[in-house]
Amino acid sequence: MNDVLITEYRKFAADHYHSLPGFCEPRHGHNWELEASVRIDNVSLRPEYKNKSEFSNKSRLHDGCKRALSAVKQTSQAQINLSSTLDTWVAIMDRSLLNEQNILAGRNPTAEVLAECLFQFLETSGLCPVIVRIKEKSHYWAICMKC
Ligand SMILES: [Zn+2]
Repeated sequence: MNDVLITEYRKFAADHYHSLPGFCEPRHGHNWELEASVRIDNVSLRPEYKNKSEFSNKSRLHDGCKRALSAVKQTSQAQINLSSTLDTWVAIMDRSLLNEQNILAGRNPTAEVLAECLFQFLETSGLCPVIVRIKEKSHYWAICMKC
């Protein structure tokens, strides 16, 4: 059994502004990008046989194939869940003024805050996020990860 990470990527466009003491920028937009990786626990990626006789035994071979099929279903379902959760989050954020997003609860919507927000969104959706990266500019990514 192994733990597996699956990762998806999305783009969205949104505006924000900053009006904190010492950190003021007027409203402007970004073409944001994100990558989110979630962990799937205890995936058996290949049939496990104790010896050659088990491999040649048809019923044991069938068990191995069933385990391999189960792993494919497990990772496929996790990918579907990650995909739909990211689509939901992006639909909330896309073409919006991030400062007005309820999901950000009045926080200053920096890339770091967005990364943390998405990480928590994945957790509350029942996924097991490991790392979330939000790209604000070509040279700048903010990362939120489980340590
Ligand atoms: Zn900005």
